[in-house]
Amino acid sequence: MNPMGLYEDKRKRTHTPEGYELLTHESGHLEYDFNWHLGYYWSKFLAGLKEKKFLATKCSQCGMVYMLPRMVCGRCFLDMNEWVEVGPEGVLEGFTIVRFPYIDPNHGGMKQVPFTSIWVTLDGANTRMMHYCNETDEKNLEVGMRMRAVWSEERTGSIHDVAYFEVIRD
Ligand SMILES: [Zn+2]
Repeated sequence: MNPMGLYEDKRKRTHTPEGYELLTHESGHLEYDFNWHLGYYWSKFLAGLKEKKFLATKCSQCGMVYMLPRMVCGRCFLDMNEWVEVGPEGVLEGFTIVRFPYIDPNHGGMKQVPFTSIWVTLDGANTRMMHYCNETDEKNLEVGMRMRAVWSEERTGSIHDVAYFEVIRD
């Protein structure tokens, strides 16, 4: 059996393995533009990224600093109104190198692989955030490594204003 059989393009098939014709129903064309309100916390966080700042929320009772910021402390159940800047460097907490392509919901095309998804705790924060790393060879990555955010040239108030994180090699 072809070990890549799992990944063959099934759209090229005209019949099932048993000989039945594969049928198609045309149901029209669907476009679905939509947007949503991000709210105060996400708006402030993303506006901060435009200015190359990671803005986190800090609990006034236990002192936990949340990155990504959230409204309510998960320990104390108190609203958090204090904002602190964290990063842009931090510690690699975990990573996954993805080599299996899939449809990227950001643009509908195939996700370029390989890419590395990481958990990073930014300096000054107590929680970790997810992002990407430009290193795609697992032999060059190790939990505990120091990481640095690399900013996109054009920033629009999106999580992609951080292009990726890179390993700090000194
Ligand atoms: Zn708290």
